[in-house]
Amino acid sequence: MRKLRSLNIGGHKIKIIYKDKLFDEKNKKIELLGLADVDNLRIYIQNGLPESRFVEVMLHECLHVIASIYDLNMNERQINTLGVEVMKLIRSNKIDLLTKGE
Ligand SMILES: [Zn+2]
Repeated sequence: MRKLRSLNIGGHKIKIIYKDKLFDEKNKKIELLGLADVDNLRIYIQNGLPESRFVEVMLHECLHVIASIYDLNMNERQINTLGVEVMKLIRSNKIDLLTKGE
């Protein structure tokens, strides 16, 4: 699988950085799968995630970036719910986001 290197979100180029280990900035004992560093326009993702987990984590971190850029003041629970539900919407309806409209 080719690795995604950057994404454009809200007019900003967000660099995607892959790490073997990722830790919470406040509590270094907590290992993370992904982390959005909006101030520095970066998303960190743990290396080697299975494809479906990668998509899920990437979507979650993108929602953090969107929430921050648009000052949506969303908490972790809201981001989680939105991320999980958007993934379910896409998967359960077999929506192919790459298919062009008619
Ligand atoms: Zn989060």
